[in-house]
Amino acid sequence: MVKCTACGAREAFYARLYSGEKLCVKCFTESIEDKVKAAISRHKMFEFNDRIAVAVSGGKDSLSLLHILVKIERDFPKASLCAITVDEGIEGYRDEAVEIALENYRELGVEHYVISFKELYGYTFDEIVKRVRGMGSKLTPCSYCGVLRRRALNAIARKINATKIATAHNLDDEIQTFILNIIHGDPFRISRSGPAFDDVKPGLVPRVKPLCEVLEKEVTLYAYVKGIRFQENPCPYAGEALRNDVRSMLNRLEEKHPGMKYMIYRSAERIREVFRDKTPKINLNQCKICGEPTIGEICQVCQILQNI
Ligand code: SF4
Ligand code: ZN
Ligand code: ZN
Repeated sequence: MVKCTACGAREAFYARLYSGEKLCVKCFTESIEDKVKAAISRHKMFEFNDRIAVAVSGGKDSLSLLHILVKIERDFPKASLCAITVDEGIEGYRDEAVEIALENYRELGVEHYVISFKELYGYTFDEIVKRVRGMGSKLTPCSYCGVLRRRALNAIARKINATKIATAHNLDDEIQTFILNIIHGDPFRISRSGPAFDDVKPGLVPRVKPLCEVLEKEVTLYAYVKGIRFQENPCPYAGEALRNDVRSMLNRLEEKHPGMKYMIYRSAERIREVFRDKTPKINLNQCKICGEPTIGEICQVCQILQNI
């Protein structure tokens, strides 16, 4: 039997190549929870009296995050935690995910809220895709789904007086976004897309990413060993081609050079630091149609809805 290198007692089940550790189930799950706690305190994500809304899609990342935050919250009696779920209206996919999310909320006894595209925008996402495709648009469904979902999360978080939204972006998501921003030559976006807000805007609930220092593979493993039920089927519209290629490239690099993903993550942090003071502050206006915060005159959500 190979012994766990952390406790020296139990049998190891996982070899963490980037650190050389061999971990038992208990030490592995504790190490993931510790990584989340460390990221929260390093980036000062929460105040002691925050009302935290965890954005839960029903996938492995968001449900693992919820389970971890529920555990951590016990140490912060003044903070309160709830879950918010957006039902985009994607038949055969999101309906199942919402059901799984609800099952987890009941098990954890978490206060929760579900908001649907249909009630917010008057259309399900399936209906929106049909209309956009009918107009011959070349935009990928994910590009407008992202805009509409961000608005929905912000709307529900504001309505329930949440002071932070915690999203489940993991380390792989973060470095993919970093590389994509380099490919697109967008330095200011690099400096604005860190794991925690640093620029509070009226009307926008600040977002934090407590899983930002955990590898995607380890989030999946955490969900499995904790017996968390999550949705495994991919979204029928998924497939942002370039991001997928960046993902495979990073996976190949990590396989050949364990620790590479963390190196890229730290490099992104250093670059963000350098750009921080040079990044122009964005002043938001109120959208002329819906009154929500926006960079231009009409927000992206109203533009999408007008077009369809
Ligand atoms: Fe929306 Fe794309 Fe995610 Fe599907 S994969 S839920 S379309 S962002
Ligand atoms: Zn151990
Ligand atoms: Zn608007």
